[in-house]
Amino acid sequence: MGTRTPKTIGDFTRWKLDVGVRCRSCGRLAVFDASEMMQHFIQKKWTMQVPIDASRFRCACRSRDVETIAVHIDHRPKPLPPRKPVLTPIYVKVKQ
Ligand SMILES: [Zn+2]
Repeated sequence: MGTRTPKTIGDFTRWKLDVGVRCRSCGRLAVFDASEMMQHFIQKKWTMQVPIDASRFRCACRSRDVETIAVHIDHRPKPLPPRKPVLTPIYVKVKQ
C-alpha cells in the first residue's frame, strides 16, 4: 500500500487501518477500530489530526508512555477475541 502516512483518523478508516496504541514500557499493543475511535474523538471534541495525541491513552500497566501506530485490518485475529463489556452510567448527579 505504499508509504502513505495517515493525516487524520478518517484516513485510517479509508485506508483500512486500525489504530494501534503501543506501550513503550511493557510493549503491549492495544488495537482500536478507527471509526469507533473517530466517533469517540468527535464526542470529546478532540482533534482528529495524526499523530494522535498519545497522552489520551493509558496502558493497562498504568504507563502513559505510549505511541500510536497504523495496523492494517488484515492483521486482526479471526475471529476477534470477545471484548470486555463496559457499563457506563447514562448520567451522573453531583451533590450540590
Ligand atoms: Zn504498558
